[in-house]
Amino acid sequence: MPGTITVWEKDPAVDRRTTAPIPDVSRLPLGFNFPAAPPFSDDPATAEFRYWNAAATLRRAADFWAASTKPPAEWNGSAVLDVFLDRGEDLQSEYDGQALNFYHGSPAGNTAIVVYSGASPDLLRHELGHAVLDAIRSDLFNRHLVETDAFHESFGDMSAILCALQIPTFCAAVLAETGQNFWTSSILSRIAPQFGAALRMENQDEADADCLRNAWNNHPYSDPAGLMAAGPPETVAANPHSFSRVFTGAFFEILAGMLAIKAGNRPLEPEDLQQVSCDMRDILVEGLREAPFVPGFYASIAAAMVEASLGPGLGRGPAVRDVFQNVFVRRNILPSAIA
Ligand SMILES: [Zn+2]
Repeated sequence: MPGTITVWEKDPAVDRRTTAPIPDVSRLPLGFNFPAAPPFSDDPATAEFRYWNAAATLRRAADFWAASTKPPAEWNGSAVLDVFLDRGEDLQSEYDGQALNFYHGSPAGNTAIVVYSGASPDLLRHELGHAVLDAIRSDLFNRHLVETDAFHESFGDMSAILCALQIPTFCAAVLAETGQNFWTSSILSRIAPQFGAALRMENQDEADADCLRNAWNNHPYSDPAGLMAAGPPETVAANPHSFSRVFTGAFFEILAGMLAIKAGNRPLEPEDLQQVSCDMRDILVEGLREAPFVPGFYASIAAAMVEASLGPGLGRGPAVRDVFQNVFVRRNILPSAIA
């Protein structure tokens, strides 16, 4: 198709490609500053493919967040965000408050394996999520409190999931894999499987068994003050990446519940998944506009999301609110039902 390029739908390990419009990375709002553009390539092993895959993925992700009901007008402190696709050797990717930074690296003792963090749409959308959250709530960034730092990580993973659902061919693949039961481990719930496999070669505790972090989990909330600082992935530890899975698991269970309500008695279509992901985005952003900053931030944002889920707005109302409330309470994120 003229005017389109080939990109990954989700993680390189999922190995599904799609086409995307040639992106205008600097377009406002939420523009990007990339180094000079190379020619196109359809070969995923090349730096040219990684460039255009990252540019198209970030453009689509920024447009998704910019379309929310209460979007940020610009990034925190600038209209345009710098993107560096290969800052050197490391198994790492990061948003540092100024730029999105990606790296390439090999697990110790496995130099034959080279992983580019900036090749994965999951990691691109995750880091973009940090920047979007910083644009909406600059008071939550780098507070060195487990719950706010963990919420930042969770928001990155929620961004990875919601942005993936903007691609109709990916939605169709999720429907085919899950058989319409979303509360299961799937290509949707498994975040960054390629990067997770590389981290696990270095340290089994650094990633879930089947990906970096699986949103399909049943980790309940308990006060991080009573948890170990690190531990195996079956447990929750008081560090941002591990503790983020508590909120992401609740989010994913709620998303599955919203999809079940949307379905009613009919089969879901790919556009239903896209619509529900937009509904969830808006509830999340509106919740963030209201949730007071407190060290126990999970309960604060959860309560604000329950409030926002009642409406007004499409895809909201008492049934959706019950899903939010029941999941947050059952997982101990909210102490009890909000009257
Ligand atoms: Zn992160």
